[in-house]
Formats: sequence, structure tokens, C-alpha cells
Amino acid sequence: MYIRVGILTAPKIEFEQREHTFVLKNVRIGIGFHWDRHEDQEFAGRLEIRDNADDTQTAINTIDLEDYLCSVISSEMNANSPMELLKAHAVISRSWAIRAMEHPNHEGYDVCADDHCQRYEGLRRMNDRAVQAVRETAGQVLTYNGAVCDCRYYKCCGGKTEVWRTCWEDIDVPYIQSVTCDYCKSPSPKVLRLVLNDYDQETKDFHDWRVSYTAEELSDIIRTKSGIDFGTITDLIPLKRGASGRIYELKIVGTKHTEIIGKELKIRLWLSPTCLYSSWFEVEKSSHLSSFTFHLSGHGWGHGAGLCQIGAAVMASEGHRYEEILSYYYPNTQLMIAD
Ligand SMILES: [Zn+2]
Ligand SMILES: [Zn+2]
Repeated sequence: MYIRVGILTAPKIEFEQREHTFVLKNVRIGIGFHWDRHEDQEFAGRLEIRDNADDTQTAINTIDLEDYLCSVISSEMNANSPMELLKAHAVISRSWAIRAMEHPNHEGYDVCADDHCQRYEGLRRMNDRAVQAVRETAGQVLTYNGAVCDCRYYKCCGGKTEVWRTCWEDIDVPYIQSVTCDYCKSPSPKVLRLVLNDYDQETKDFHDWRVSYTAEELSDIIRTKSGIDFGTITDLIPLKRGASGRIYELKIVGTKHTEIIGKELKIRLWLSPTCLYSSWFEVEKSSHLSSFTFHLSGHGWGHGAGLCQIGAAVMASEGHRYEEILSYYYPNTQLMIAD
């Protein structure tokens, strides 16, 4: 089974073909997130450069699904993580990828290489233990009623996981339910070091966090991110919350414009120069003279639906097997071999 990965779109793709691999120059990773940066990346498989109608080019990598997964597991997780965590991740990344191949989100290829789909950084961070985890779970996918599950995951739930409709369509997905997770509350520094790649360790306060903006700062951020002039923001009113507490309808009140926005990702994008850790937060206002400040006190990092990566890492380090980790975060599912 082969997967087509759209790695990069640029005015002109710069690359170097080697004997069995190729190197792409200046690949941007973590687009829009706080770890946004550029690097050169080396890939196995075949490279195709597509010319787009708008005079840009897209680099598309066709690669065996299992080889793609070895890189994804190495890219998403520090490959020194507990083996059971790597195996759990191999299964959900494989399941997710097979679903994405059936329902592509992109024109002309199955998945992109960034966090929008799954982080895929080629051979650079490839690690023997990630490869072992993929090989030992070869072909295994998570299923519900015989169909491959859409296995969503994120960094840290913050104490409770979220349901599907808070993040995406208004449907019930039976294996994405809200479960209590105490595992991610206070992971040891050792577990964190193992689980997070170097650049993710710049972030430490993701279970419980707080962000403060003056009304002026917040108004500027929202104007820039939304393209709409709300005037001065005078209130943020959470209208609807999901099962974990994540807001999926937020009323933004300004002196010139008022609007209700959702769902969780849009809220996170509009309320931060990059992206707020999560939409699970309380809003407090404090005033000083004629100006006031918004304080957002929140929990978790990511949309919260499906597997909590930090929680799963703690479970694995406490000796839980990957099957147990998967059934904890995706209730009522079964492991099967993909056809
Ligand atoms: Zn994508
Ligand atoms: Zn958790």
C-alpha cells in the first residue's frame, strides 16, 4: 500500500536527488504554531514535482505506507519513548492514514506532511525503536464495527477528553467519547523528555495555563487573525462547551462588531497570535483605570478528542500495554489487520 504525501508548496521547489533518497530545501514545519520553523529534510521513496495553476510547485512523495509510518512515529514522538506508546501511536497513525487515503483532505495527494495531517519529517529523525514499533504492529488498525477508526490525537487533554462535535461535524462518533484522564496531570520530567521532541519542550505549562491580554492587544490579535474590525473588544462570552469544557461557541463582543464563532480550532486561532493551547478556558476581566485586561485560564493542549499523547506516555511508562492504552482513549474499539 502506497501513500502520497504533499510535503511542500513553494514558488520553486529546491531539491537534491541522491542515490536512494532526495533532499528538500527549506521545508516549513509547524505552520501557524509556536514551533513554526524551516529546515532541510531528506526523504525515501519517489519525488514528483507538480506545477500548480498559480505558478507555485508542490513536492509530492510517494512512499510505502509502513515506511511513511516509521517516519511519522519518529517525527511525532521522541523515539526513546516507552515501546508500548510507540506501538499505540503506530496503530492510530496507520488507522488515520488509511482513512485519509479513503477520504483525502487535499487535492492531488492523500496527506500533507505537517501537523494539519500528521507530522512527517522524512529520514532525519528516523529511529530504530520507531521502526520496531511499526514492524511489530504491522498492518494493525483500530476498528469499530469492522470499519477503520478515524483516530484523532493531540498533546494533552488537561484532565478530560472531548467529543467529536466540539471539534468537527455535528455527529456522534461512538469511539470518541469524553473520558477522564488523570495520567497527564503531572507527568515526570523524565516522561516529558522522552515523549516530546526537542522543540516541543519549549512548552511546559500545557496542562494548566494562563494567558493575559490587554483589551488593546486582544483587539489587535482578533483584527489580524479574523480580518474583521471588531473595534475594541469588550467581552468574550463562552456560549457552548463540550464534554471536557472546551468552548465551541464563543461570543466576541466589540465596540464596532459582535460575532459568535466556533468551533474549537477557530476560537484558538482567533484568540492568539499563533494558536491558543486549547479552547478549554475561563475568561476573567480585570480593570485598571479606564483600561482592562482579559485573563484566559485554560487546560490542555490540542482539540482533546481521542488519544492524549502525554497521558498515553504515562500509561505506557506505568506498564500498560498498547492495547489497553488504545481501548482507554478509544472505547469500544477492536484491533484488526487492515486488508
Ligand atoms: Zn493535511
Ligand atoms: Zn490526558
